[in-house]
Amino acid sequence: MNYNTGMETAQLTVPPAIKQIGETIKNAGFESYLVGGCVRDLMISREPKDWDITTNATPEEIQGLFVETFYENTYGTVGVVTESEDPRLKVVEVTPYRIESAYTNARHPDEVRFSKNLTDDLKRRDFTINAIAYDPSSGELIDLHHGREDLARRVITAVGDPHERFAEDALRMLRAIRLAAELDFAIETQTAAGIVGNASQLAKISKERIRDELTRILMSPRPMQAIYIAQKLGILKYVLPRLEDGIGIDQNQAHSYDVFEHLMRAMQCAADKNWPFEVRLAALLHDVGKPATRVWSEERKDWSFHGHEVVGARMAKDILRDLKFPKETIDAVVSLIRWHMFFSDPDTVTLSAVRRIINNVGKEHIKELLDLRICDRVGTGRPKEQPFRLRKYMSMVDEALRDPISVGMLKIDGTRLMTLGEKPGPRIGWILHALLEEVLDDPQKNTPEYLENKASSMMKMTTDELREIGEAGKERKSEEDEAAVKKLREKHHVN
Ligand code: ATP
Ligand code: MG
Repeated sequence: MNYNTGMETAQLTVPPAIKQIGETIKNAGFESYLVGGCVRDLMISREPKDWDITTNATPEEIQGLFVETFYENTYGTVGVVTESEDPRLKVVEVTPYRIESAYTNARHPDEVRFSKNLTDDLKRRDFTINAIAYDPSSGELIDLHHGREDLARRVITAVGDPHERFAEDALRMLRAIRLAAELDFAIETQTAAGIVGNASQLAKISKERIRDELTRILMSPRPMQAIYIAQKLGILKYVLPRLEDGIGIDQNQAHSYDVFEHLMRAMQCAADKNWPFEVRLAALLHDVGKPATRVWSEERKDWSFHGHEVVGARMAKDILRDLKFPKETIDAVVSLIRWHMFFSDPDTVTLSAVRRIINNVGKEHIKELLDLRICDRVGTGRPKEQPFRLRKYMSMVDEALRDPISVGMLKIDGTRLMTLGEKPGPRIGWILHALLEEVLDDPQKNTPEYLENKASSMMKMTTDELREIGEAGKERKSEEDEAAVKKLREKHHVN
């Protein structure tokens, strides 16, 4: 079928494994086109996340053409397994042309209807930039909704009437904002108006689908822009309603921005540094308890937010549970928020206070807590740049996490010495420290056999002789331990 008045072509680089599938379908007498995100990404030199093929063949006909396929959904999508080692090319989704059918609930189509016509399939797609079809074997390009123009203008435009399209499936509104954040595109005016008009429909969308889009927004390079737009267009209150409570909530004098903007900037800092998802999410929510805890202090003539980290941690737990985030994510983010006010002045903090914080937030999250502190500072708009002091604190964290040099490292202990015949008392400590000195000189000697042998001969020594080598061992241990700490501080450049 000829879908264009004049045939247009393009030369896009498509992996051989993908091209091959299209050729197999075409050789059997069907049509086959790449479509959706992969064509969009190829045209803007972005690496496609996955590959989708659309065809006039039925699911059964598609299955008949390939050795290994699976078909276990109601959308007609057949997974074709390729021989490629690349996980992104391993399974290619081949879907028959579909036609838009009636929607109820602003969610899923009531039934899936197949079509023999590519035109129908492109019409049901969400945005013009996602509705371009491409045949890599002929170079034929079918762009009935002017997706290329929108790619060039860098705008997200709904296919057809935006009001109708968002009323059919409310998730598309969040997809628009997510795509804009990922691609650094704007949302076209009528499309944006369609979002404003349908925002409340998002309440009908499942929390899991909202969570997945929110996750991709946070992992994009521009989450701040995306959340601002979501707020402006009226859909933020269906995604993270408690965030809006921070709008217009002024803070104390250390801050330039209200609570909402502070959270945005802190989250953007985490994205700019390419920090993990948990840090971005914690940065976005860390002060969510501030609006509820704000109190004016006449004495200091300033606002205070006592206990906002406790209230905020509780609120974050409810918010993230409601969005069905996995338990590990919730636990990590809630604990980062709970402890984000930790005291970090390296001049006055003690090693045991540092140990307590590590204990509270967990060894595996302490680096994230420090990252969150950096985001928090940057997000004030008046960051006191203190890289030296944070490095010093990090060095203390390493020191607290380190296993100190001690007789505990030995493959022998006091109990064993007693079963070998030594009596309880100071001699045991001296023997162990003398053994430790040997092991520090030559770690190869740290075996039960060697140490037991050596201990047996030491046990024959007089108490004076033992005291001498034992005390020497203790001194050596302290020196080595100090040297280890010194090395660690050098690593952080804080010496
Ligand atoms: P990416 O793969 O980078 O997430 P994508 O645009 O390919 O982006 P997918 O979720 O893989 O997104 O969807 C593939 C295609 O299916 C889209 O490009 C679009 O044409 C169509 N599509 C996906 N979701 C919808 C929807 N809710 N409404 C209409 N069309 C959709
Ligand atoms: Mg895709």
